[in-house]
Amino acid sequence: MSDFKTTIGLEIHCQLKTKSKMFCSCDNNAENAEPNSLVCPVCLAMPGTLPVANRSAIEMTIMTGLALGCDIPSESKFDRKHYFYPDLPKGYQISQYDKPFCKGGEVEVSYIRTANETNSEQRIETRKIRLNRIHLEEDAGKLTHPAGKDYSLVDLNRAGTPLMEIVTEPDITSPAEARQFMEELQLALKYLKVSDADMEKGHVRCDANISIQKDGKSSPIIEIKNLNSFKFVEQALAFEEKRLTADFENWPEKMGKITRGFDSNKGITFEQRRKEEAADYRYFPEPDIPPISFSETEINDLRLKIKELPKQKQKKFIEAGIRVDVAEKLVRQPHLAEYLETSTQLKHDLAVFISEEVTRAIAEHQILFEEYQTKVPVTKIADLLNLVAEGIISKTVAKEIFYEMIVTGEVPADIIKKKGLEQVSDTGELESVINQIVKENPDLVEKYRSGKIQVVGFFVGKIMQSTSGKANPQVLNKLLKEKLDGHSA
Ligand SMILES: [Zn+2]
Repeated sequence: MSDFKTTIGLEIHCQLKTKSKMFCSCDNNAENAEPNSLVCPVCLAMPGTLPVANRSAIEMTIMTGLALGCDIPSESKFDRKHYFYPDLPKGYQISQYDKPFCKGGEVEVSYIRTANETNSEQRIETRKIRLNRIHLEEDAGKLTHPAGKDYSLVDLNRAGTPLMEIVTEPDITSPAEARQFMEELQLALKYLKVSDADMEKGHVRCDANISIQKDGKSSPIIEIKNLNSFKFVEQALAFEEKRLTADFENWPEKMGKITRGFDSNKGITFEQRRKEEAADYRYFPEPDIPPISFSETEINDLRLKIKELPKQKQKKFIEAGIRVDVAEKLVRQPHLAEYLETSTQLKHDLAVFISEEVTRAIAEHQILFEEYQTKVPVTKIADLLNLVAEGIISKTVAKEIFYEMIVTGEVPADIIKKKGLEQVSDTGELESVINQIVKENPDLVEKYRSGKIQVVGFFVGKIMQSTSGKANPQVLNKLLKEKLDGHSA
């Protein structure tokens, strides 16, 4: 058994979706914009320009902190963090050093547990990952290195974009848990509507710190920079965990922090520059932005702006009778959870239908969710499921009707009428089908009567086939059993 202990801490950079950049009025949405088209003297760092802090970015940061249980100090300030790099025109980044907007806090990582094989009851287990702080800073520009050229290009559209940095305590104990933490955090950011938190678009990037301990000895801390997908976070950490463990005895006692990059094509990490210590950045207070203070009232007003968070929604769904895993699946897709909530009642069967059939149908039809929702508001699904519950249509037919609803936008009742899809519950009609099939298979009837009751399945299949799946299963089973047992003619 391995007695190695893995210690992981994360620093997550999240792009806030404000209208304008952090310290100037340039458009903050650079998607599809021409390089260097969203710039001004401030974000180009022209001499004599002055930064003005974006209030909405600060509010979003504080709201995130409140939602994650952070303390909000009454006074905060910005600082200059110096380093030289071609994508940073000022030669320093405006960040926060010793007085961030949010301190402490935590993110709950949850696991669904099933009691055991025979008892499928589900419960949620949680682990709390503490946060150290959340601060606000500006992003740098973006460098591209054209293949085969001896120069690089810089695009400063991203320079000055507000970045919220969330720093955890080293509480994470495995690469899988790091990934789960990221997923929980991303979801919270989406619910708070402070960021689109789309990792593919680089809205969320992660630096991960990992070290291994055994018998009071620790490996050096490895920082893996710029991980931009959940999968890469887990892969890179798993690679380092293995590397550090395998070579554990040979690590020198004091090595400080080592920075490595991740090659996602090869799935390996590689050595980069040595991490600069905090002092190397020559932090000092940003002289052009006075300290920022918040009153109790202002903080409470921001608290009121926070709508429901994922955990609260999940709890509400579960309390309404929706099974834990279904509730979790829906909460992870905010648009589907909201769709369910437009119904008058939160029902389990409706939740299951949305998490399974609606998701599948949208993927198959390749339509946008908005378009789907216009054609099929949730009330129509509720109607459809009521028809199943009342025995008017079978579950199989319900799926067929649902597909028709997506195409035509018609209500279930009209489609049933148009296509003659009512379930056959009429005993007379079903009896004649049963009689016919029983008559055609006397040998199977014999088998049944001699105790091989599994042949019932064959009869049910045949009858369903000849009624195009419309036979009401309850009525069918009852009549068939009576017939085979010889209680009816
Ligand atoms: Zn600007």
